[in-house]
Amino acid sequence: MKLAAIAVALLLPLVAGATAAADDEFDFFYFVQQWPGSFCDTDRGCCFPDTGKPAAEFGIHGLWPNYAKCRPTADDGPEAAASIDMVVDDDGSHHHRRRQKCWPEYCNNSNNLHPWEIKDLIKDLDANWPTLSCKGGGGGSSMEFWAYEWKKHGTCSGLGQHDYFAAALDLKRRDGGLAGILAAAGIVPSEDERYLLSGIRGAIANATGAIPNLECNRDAFGETQLYQVYQCVSRDGRTLVDCLLPMSGKCSGTVKLPPF
Ligand code: 5GP
Repeated sequence: MKLAAIAVALLLPLVAGATAAADDEFDFFYFVQQWPGSFCDTDRGCCFPDTGKPAAEFGIHGLWPNYAKCRPTADDGPEAAASIDMVVDDDGSHHHRRRQKCWPEYCNNSNNLHPWEIKDLIKDLDANWPTLSCKGGGGGSSMEFWAYEWKKHGTCSGLGQHDYFAAALDLKRRDGGLAGILAAAGIVPSEDERYLLSGIRGAIANATGAIPNLECNRDAFGETQLYQVYQCVSRDGRTLVDCLLPMSGKCSGTVKLPPF
């Protein structure tokens, strides 16, 4: 009896420790690409990076670890600040707001991106992961965007710096380019055409074998347009899987795909 009690006392912290570690783990990645035409034609506009106008192709936004299920956080806990913009819980009848954390972020703030670690990837990154932000007056370096994405999302990926960026580039190459996939389905950038979201989702699902999520934004006239495509990737960083989580808001019916 006494022995059993001692065994339980010894094992409990181990079990508790294992649970805590598992809780910290993410479930899948969102591989997010942005349509530059939709980033640029909002009220805020955009700026081209120091490498010049990017190609009229989707550009990488990031590779983001995500939870399969959002986790409630204490309103006044250390995580409250990080989760404050994720307040979405709307069941239609009640507007029920609760602080939730749906992904891990900033997992190691002392882990800065070292340009030399990704030296061999920089040409590829400039072409495929260009910044369009006007922060710092525009004409900026995409390296700042990559460093931001690394710090916020990459440090939670379990990957090293080189592997993280190489994984994103490989994913982008895999599908042969989303703009090409859409064009093959007759979905081409246009000033006035509108496309069914279901058609966009279907074209990407057919070509890649996995259902993506779509995010929209609004142009300067308030028209809805396709902004970002979210592809779901298993924890290995390589395997595309269906996106099963619904995305909140802004997209329904038809959207524009503005030229870039
Ligand atoms: P995230 O959506 O990854 O949390 O944040 C994106 C951050 O990167 C924003 O602070 C934004 O200003 C910056 N950023 C720099 N370049 C770009 C870009 O081309 N697209 C987007 N969406 N954000 C960019």
